[in-house]
Amino acid sequence: MITTNLDIETIRKDFPILKRKVNGYPLVYLDNAATSQTPKQVIDTIVDYYSRFNANIHRGVHSLSQEATDAYENARKKIQNHINAVEPHEIIFTSGTTDSINLVASGFTSFLKKGDEVLVSAMEHHSNIVPWQMLCERTGAILKVIPMNPEGELLIDEYAKLLSNNTKLVVCNHVSNALGSINPIEKIISLAHEVDAAVLIDGAQAAPHIKIDVQKLNVDFYTVSAHKICGPTGVGILYGKEEWLKKLPPYQGGGEMIAEVTFEKTTYADLPHKFEAGTPNICGGIAFGAAIDYMNSLGYEAIASYEKELLEYATEELKSIKGLKIYGTSQHKTSVISFNVEGIHPYDIGTILDKLGIAVRTGHHCAQPIMDYYNIPGTIRASFSFYNTKDEVDILVEGVKKAKQMLS
Ligand SMILES: *Cc1c(COP(=O)(O)O)cnc(C)c1O
Repeated sequence: MITTNLDIETIRKDFPILKRKVNGYPLVYLDNAATSQTPKQVIDTIVDYYSRFNANIHRGVHSLSQEATDAYENARKKIQNHINAVEPHEIIFTSGTTDSINLVASGFTSFLKKGDEVLVSAMEHHSNIVPWQMLCERTGAILKVIPMNPEGELLIDEYAKLLSNNTKLVVCNHVSNALGSINPIEKIISLAHEVDAAVLIDGAQAAPHIKIDVQKLNVDFYTVSAHKICGPTGVGILYGKEEWLKKLPPYQGGGEMIAEVTFEKTTYADLPHKFEAGTPNICGGIAFGAAIDYMNSLGYEAIASYEKELLEYATEELKSIKGLKIYGTSQHKTSVISFNVEGIHPYDIGTILDKLGIAVRTGHHCAQPIMDYYNIPGTIRASFSFYNTKDEVDILVEGVKKAKQMLS
């Protein structure tokens, strides 16, 4: 029995796509860690924007431009309140987590020198590895890896040993997209601060499940992608502490980010505009705000406790399949299950599940080092959202059993 305060049947009606059939079967969407589906409240916001007040922002004297500017800046404030940032200008709109990380990595170029060290965890998404490798190539800094154990938990004692006065940056995800592990970021942040290293936390996978408080975390940089939290693709944020954002040089040059331009010298705009060159994803930012409202209308506590029940039920049911192995069994997990069935390639199972209308992810999940660690080509990943049901877990389990039968 799964109990919840959420009215899942009613919630499912908010998501038009969940009524779809795929290959003749009702869609069972279990790829939420790749992107979440979009409720009609967010879709309506997008339609409303283009139907009523589409205009460029921050520079028009006309009414439409004023309305669009107000809605966009209001969304920034919603996000500020949601993650408890001190100032709205600590929220930089970006195109998503990847963009946010690249912004910080680019900015740190002038702060690092040969021999400085950047620590990155063993369970990162490629977007929280490659920009730092590129930064190290540019500066001569050294990239070091915080190791993990087979359960998918970071080894905090080993991490503490890696920290030194050479450590300038520590980067880590809040939640692993491939394993679901919730990392002890409070500890990671406080230990890094003892050696005066800055910390960037990739929150792409945490934001849909966990209420974030950047002040309580005392984190220097935190990133979110809207499309994983019921918002549209192509928009996200970088949170940065004001003191860091003031120190960091601009990322891209262009319109919007300047105070004054002459051919001799350009001065830059104040925060947040210094980091927001060009016309932004205005509609996306406003819709991101609507997605945050939607999540908060359900409530994070209710979401987390329901998803935990789904996770426990699905884990038990999947484990009962002979030869099935789950990767990522951390004590603290979000509703992500990565698994393989002995002797069968994950892609083959994924293909059969798709024929049954079940959407899962197969492959390395943009985290090849994790797959290398387990010495596997990839996994099948089922990731659950609050709009998934116990019945859908049963359909997945039956589907995996069927695929196993067909393939072995
Ligand atoms: C999805 C994801 C990213 C990349 O986010 P984009 O929206 O593709 O930029 C980075 N890290 C983690 C943990 C993710 O889940």
